[in-house]
Amino acid sequence: MVFLLDSHCDAPLMLAKGADFGRPVPQGYVPGKFPVTHVDYARMKKGGVNGSFFAIYTSNFLSPDAATRRALELIAKVYDSVDRNQDKAALTTSPAEARRNARAGLISVFMGMENGAPIQKDLSLLRMFWRMGVTYMTLTHARSNEICDSCTSPEPRWHGVSPFGREVIAEMNRLGMMIDVSHISDESFWDVIKYSQAPVVATHSCCRALNDHPRNMTDEMIVAMAEKGGVIQVNFYPTFLDSAYGQKACDLIDAAEAAQDAWLENPSDPALQERVKAAYEAVNAIPRPSYKKIVDHIDHVVKLVGVKHVGLGSDFDGIEVCPSGLEDISRMQKIIIELRKRGYSEYEIRLIAGGNFLRVMDTVQHLGE
Ligand SMILES: [Zn+2]
Repeated sequence: MVFLLDSHCDAPLMLAKGADFGRPVPQGYVPGKFPVTHVDYARMKKGGVNGSFFAIYTSNFLSPDAATRRALELIAKVYDSVDRNQDKAALTTSPAEARRNARAGLISVFMGMENGAPIQKDLSLLRMFWRMGVTYMTLTHARSNEICDSCTSPEPRWHGVSPFGREVIAEMNRLGMMIDVSHISDESFWDVIKYSQAPVVATHSCCRALNDHPRNMTDEMIVAMAEKGGVIQVNFYPTFLDSAYGQKACDLIDAAEAAQDAWLENPSDPALQERVKAAYEAVNAIPRPSYKKIVDHIDHVVKLVGVKHVGLGSDFDGIEVCPSGLEDISRMQKIIIELRKRGYSEYEIRLIAGGNFLRVMDTVQHLGE
């Protein structure tokens, strides 16, 4: 059977803003509450999605204690959401559980931690988050942290992985927790390849050969990750998929985010609200690339390293814009249909849809203790 898996979305951010995924979440922009939302259980079901990794995301700009607290808050929101919707979803920590859930008609909700900041400099905290059900960790986010440098750090702090980061990698290997290389710098990536005993994953990254963006992976990196048995999960963000779109939209997206932040600080100011609306209209006026670009990136990985090292990591609820035709998770089958059109066999589609990622998860967990 096809197990359709999304290896990365920011749905917990919407849970923290009060969304209940058991009820339809407003799909349009709700000023002051939700930006455009992409995920709820009904839409996942409609899209034939069997499982999704909800990201426990923390900003690199939080203090260490604030990051730990925020991670706990987001995990609590995920627990609450799953508890309230036991007829629809189940918290999941292994591929075997995920397959059982699928047979029972339940959506598997996994947790991945995006940014290692919440573990501070303490492996005990890493172990605690693992016990809570966090099955991968993206080593950092937009800036360097105690573990390694980010691909968007203004200045490298460690020129790769820090001495503490090496301990983190060894402990993640021992536990059976997947190491996510999305967001980390190229130097950090090569250190992870060197130090990790287990395969590693990129839960939401595209190909730099198709769009020269630091968040995307070079062919050399993809080859090295595949040789180690890992997988790259293609991100749906138009700015990563398509360089022409990125060049046109990047500044406008930044402006819209800044307008949103300014307004959230001062929600009673109608002028700031108008500014947010105008900024989003300006973003939306730029034609977005088609969802078929996602399949172009998949094709590229398949040509490079074969069909066993690629999958899908939408970044839904963390991206301000989506590709044209794939505006939320209910439309995920369009990718499957496009893969079929391009001549992929049903076996190959099963691998890309989720089989590859679950295989890596299985391997990493079995290599652990
Ligand atoms: Zn991310």
